[in-house]
Amino acid sequence: MATQPLTIDRTKSAERIERDIETLAGPDYTRSSEAIMRYAYTPEYRRTLDYFIGELEALGFEHYEDPVGTLVARNRPAGENVFGVGSHCDSNRNGGKYDGTMGVVTALEVCRLNEELGLDLPLQLISFLEEEGSGFGQMLLGSRIIAQRVTEEELREKFRAVDDGRSFWEHAEEAGYEPERWQDSIRILDDLVGWIELHIEQARVLQDTQNRIGVVNAIAGYVHADITVYGRGDHAGATPMDFRKDAGIVMAECMLELERLAREAGKGTVGTVGEIELRPNLINAVPGQAKFSLDIRGVDEEGFRGVARDIAAFAKEAAEKRGMRAEYAQRQTLSATPLDEDIVAALEEAAQASGEPYMAMHSGAAHDTMSIADRLPSAMVFVPCKDGISHSPEEDAEPADAAIGAEVMLNAIRTFTAGGQ
Ligand SMILES: [Zn+2]
Repeated sequence: MATQPLTIDRTKSAERIERDIETLAGPDYTRSSEAIMRYAYTPEYRRTLDYFIGELEALGFEHYEDPVGTLVARNRPAGENVFGVGSHCDSNRNGGKYDGTMGVVTALEVCRLNEELGLDLPLQLISFLEEEGSGFGQMLLGSRIIAQRVTEEELREKFRAVDDGRSFWEHAEEAGYEPERWQDSIRILDDLVGWIELHIEQARVLQDTQNRIGVVNAIAGYVHADITVYGRGDHAGATPMDFRKDAGIVMAECMLELERLAREAGKGTVGTVGEIELRPNLINAVPGQAKFSLDIRGVDEEGFRGVARDIAAFAKEAAEKRGMRAEYAQRQTLSATPLDEDIVAALEEAAQASGEPYMAMHSGAAHDTMSIADRLPSAMVFVPCKDGISHSPEEDAEPADAAIGAEVMLNAIRTFTAGGQ
């Protein structure tokens, strides 16, 4: 029953992947001469979709775009089971060549190999719209529309273009789409029996552990919140230490406590204070108010939510001890996304068979896969990116690693569709 793992011509795949990546980094495909900058409903984005369409048509794939512009291409008629591969090909406003695009390019390579090796696997490629939020300030927008995790009012009114302030709705119509049919986008998922997204890691774990493949078994959830400490602003010279209500000191205690709590929670839980704001923010004034952000993430739901609860309680207590007051306010939260055990197992087996170093890991960053993982068996593959740099023109990754990724995906899909359908 076990299918013998295939070895592909990795050099050839790496060359094709590199050619695709370099083509899509050319002047026709980016709005900036300094970086990759492309987003929905621009000529550069349209040309990028058309590039993929041309390549997929050559493989005999049928294609369509959903009511807002997510690209779908498949080698089986509607109603027949297919396995999904893809990512996004929009970029950050100051982006690099690899974030997202490498995932769509590698998915395309999987489709090519399927054809070339005569495997006849049923495949559907998806290139999600607006993952980065560069057009309308909304991350994972295309996949959230598919998953119906938006409201009509948001699409009609609230989501507005970063460039001109006009609504998402208006822009989608102008580009020839039918936003009034947005709820039909979910039908993209109809025949999917599984899903794998390849992406650059966007951190240094693979590089620093010398692994070439990461099999992603969960995507972290997060809590974004702020704590504000109310003290008393006093003269920094004239006010003796015993007379102070220094809000900055409570903030400092909280920062150290957050580090301790995140370490204690373990399981990859992380906590960061990334924004701080002191008032009046002067060298010669005792801070009367301190506001700081919390970014707490993890794949263990109870773990990272526990850290958020505990730091909120700690802040109140630490402030009270010093005769001050602290308030905790949540901005936004998203649950952790466990990925499918069977697909993860098939990927690990395929990674093992590749003979290249790999590791199981989780994703700290958000991905479109989060939007669909509760609707069908899903997993992700990471490849290293140089020094963990992403969302920057400095972004760098190896087509040779993506070629291994394509081989691993192909073998995993073969195992999964042979055993699981
Ligand atoms: Zn991305």
